[in-house]
Amino acid sequence: TGHVSVIGGGLAGSEAAWLLAEAGLDVELVEMKPARRSPAHVLDGLAELVCSNSLRSDNPQNAVGLLHEELRRLGSVVLAAADATRVPAGDALAVDRERFSALVTERLASHPRIRLRREEATALPPPPGLALVATGPLTGEALAAEISALAGGRLHFYDAIAPIIAAESIDMTIAYARSRYGKGSGDDYLNLPLDEPQYRAFVAALLAGEKVKPHAFEEPRYFEGCLPIEVMAERGPDVLAYGPMKPVGLEDPRTGRRPFAVVQLRCEDTAGTAWNLVGFQTRLTWPEQKRIFRAHLPGLAGAEFVRLGQIHRNTFLEAPRVLAPDLSSRERPHLFFAGQITGVEGYVESTACGHLAARAMLDRLAGRDFRPPPAATAMGALHRHLTGAAHPAGYDYQPTNVVFALFPELTGRHRGKAARKDAHVERARKELEPWLTP
Ligand code: FAD
Repeated sequence: TGHVSVIGGGLAGSEAAWLLAEAGLDVELVEMKPARRSPAHVLDGLAELVCSNSLRSDNPQNAVGLLHEELRRLGSVVLAAADATRVPAGDALAVDRERFSALVTERLASHPRIRLRREEATALPPPPGLALVATGPLTGEALAAEISALAGGRLHFYDAIAPIIAAESIDMTIAYARSRYGKGSGDDYLNLPLDEPQYRAFVAALLAGEKVKPHAFEEPRYFEGCLPIEVMAERGPDVLAYGPMKPVGLEDPRTGRRPFAVVQLRCEDTAGTAWNLVGFQTRLTWPEQKRIFRAHLPGLAGAEFVRLGQIHRNTFLEAPRVLAPDLSSRERPHLFFAGQITGVEGYVESTACGHLAARAMLDRLAGRDFRPPPAATAMGALHRHLTGAAHPAGYDYQPTNVVFALFPELTGRHRGKAARKDAHVERARKELEPWLTP
């Protein structure tokens, strides 16, 4: 047997602590509540859902639903607690958050191999014992400073996420491929041309659109370096046209003319199925993003959104550069990281990440190489995000939910969206099988 510590009893930490204890390790789980709380936490228990009570779609045709299924097959304590405290919510897995947290707390606290310590960790544990850091998106300043130093500054405090559009939903009679000044391979970018009236109408819609109100603790700093488009629009009618929508060097090859403004899309995944609206981080509400972008951006009338834009206070590491594939620090390999702090987004993804890190710690302690999850599973898709394998070179690492765009490309022909989803699910189910046992 061995001894490990887990810092942070949220979704990732609780899942990991359980798996490690079930594998026969003595686990010290350090949770700062109730003595200290992040600005978003209010309950005293472990695995607190800080906002929505929904773990999103339970339908495996949806990548997050497939992740639910995989976690259940892997014996996840968090998914078991969610199933046991489920409340009706259509095809979503929603829970009674107090009973959910109480149940996870009770199962962990009564586990003979888990010692729950209620105190704040203010420093990273020294080697040689293995430790998992799972302190979440609102990791406190003392620990964040240490993590930032360890990561050579590659720890971010805000995410600034631009929407991503499904390739097949972009009108290619309007969009044209071209990199600025024709540099690089022309296929890296698509461009949507706007004439002046279209641009003015778009700016007006941005100004009028409904925005998400920031939390009280989010106000101060996020605007430096990554201004939301609606804030740029507020600063002046031409600010966007000189900023992310600058048309210079992006003449439309079909007309030879330079549009008044351009929206650039950059390929987001190696398979070319998803395109990111470059520089379009926004706090417009999600329904408003869909409405305004479809109505005002040429070529996006039928856009399907793989992801919508958002800006949050969110502490996360540039995982592909800072972490090894087994989620341990490249600098200090006795430290593993899991959950939102690694740049996954969401309750279920954070849980799954805790599971992954615990598996990696078990492999390390057993003296064997880390066995990553099979690439075509939902667990594997998250791991492909964390290692960068799902992204093209030069990708600007930002948190993401699990989506099918992170999966390896399907082989063979699948006509239509539903058939492609079926193919993903079938392949994932088969591939997970050999990975079920540590
Ligand atoms: P957490 O669940 O936050 O767990 C971290 C734990 O570590 C906490 O219990 C904390 O008290 C403890 N801790 C932190 N620092 C220390 C320390 N130094 N010492 C000891 N303990 C410490 N995702 C969704 O899917 N749906 C949503 O609706 C949603 N809403 C969100 C709203 C807000 C305001 C935020 C900030 C995030 C939201 N998320 C949401 C994103 C994310 O999925 C959750 O934050 C999720 O809980 C992350 O899991 P985690 O285990 O990484 O961190």
